[in-house]
Amino acid sequence: MRCGHCERSAVVDRPYRGDHVCETHLIASVEERARRAFHRQLPKFSAGTVAVALSGGKDSSAALHLTHRYFARRPTVRLVAISVDEGIPGYRDATLVAARALSERLGVEHRVVEAATRLGTTTDRVARSRPEAIPCSYCGVWRRRLLNDAAREAGADALVLGFNLDDLAQTVLMNLTRGEVDRLGRMAPHRSRRPGLVPRIAPLADVPEREVFLYARLRGLPFDHGECPHAGRAARNVFREVLWRLEESMPGTRQALLRTRERLLERGLADDGSAPDSCLRCGAPATGTLCRTCVLLEAAHVPPLVPEVP
Ligand code: SF4
Ligand SMILES: [Zn+2]
Ligand SMILES: [Zn+2]
Repeated sequence: MRCGHCERSAVVDRPYRGDHVCETHLIASVEERARRAFHRQLPKFSAGTVAVALSGGKDSSAALHLTHRYFARRPTVRLVAISVDEGIPGYRDATLVAARALSERLGVEHRVVEAATRLGTTTDRVARSRPEAIPCSYCGVWRRRLLNDAAREAGADALVLGFNLDDLAQTVLMNLTRGEVDRLGRMAPHRSRRPGLVPRIAPLADVPEREVFLYARLRGLPFDHGECPHAGRAARNVFREVLWRLEESMPGTRQALLRTRERLLERGLADDGSAPDSCLRCGAPATGTLCRTCVLLEAAHVPPLVPEVP
């Protein structure tokens, strides 16, 4: 199959656009979509600190590379890459090696935060002590908390996440299916600032997972292919499969789900989270009396966090 923009062979088809693209045009197209996303999500940002969540997988590695590229001509913008070690030996160790390699290659400061030190427990420890619980349900909450804390410590004005189009469309579908419309306003990319929360942005929001993978490969980025041993139990898996099937029969479903979120936000039907409560225990932003981190630490019988110093 030939590229729809030149004479070269295509490396990927894009049914949602009705075309095929070669390596060169795929790279250019991913970079252009990321550039527009930065422009839209972080307007007029010319000085300050941008933190990038870096797991060492394809998505976050591509996100760091694209962030570095986007701000290359702005020396007034400082980048900090942040990796969270949730305590999943045999999986996280390899991804951290890749994360370190990419940070060094780009000359970006790299910080690693450990759940064991910060929270007093790890994902694997809880997976053993609470076999009935799905590990991702607390691992994801704790990772978000540790990333936000580390981004604040780095003085970051924004936190870049590697979420791709598939990830975000799955999240929209999950929230709609569960009737949790308010959560649509709290998911990345953020449209408003909330006290205590570093705004999260997603430069790969318009790029499907398959294209992110190819981009990372074609750009020769170091990333780890390993899969977390707990991934098979994630509630998200069923939504991933449903979305694949929907996308196959109705190309453009993922973009349509993201547009649905936008429209609900524009009409004020989904909470944008601009006025959250504070957790009574640790002081972090919360939507009730306790934040999710503290609720889950309590469920795991881990001693409470030390309150934040204002
Ligand atoms: S798959 Fe689940 S348990 Fe594994 S790192 Fe991701 S959120 Fe954590
Ligand atoms: Zn081409
Ligand atoms: Zn709390």
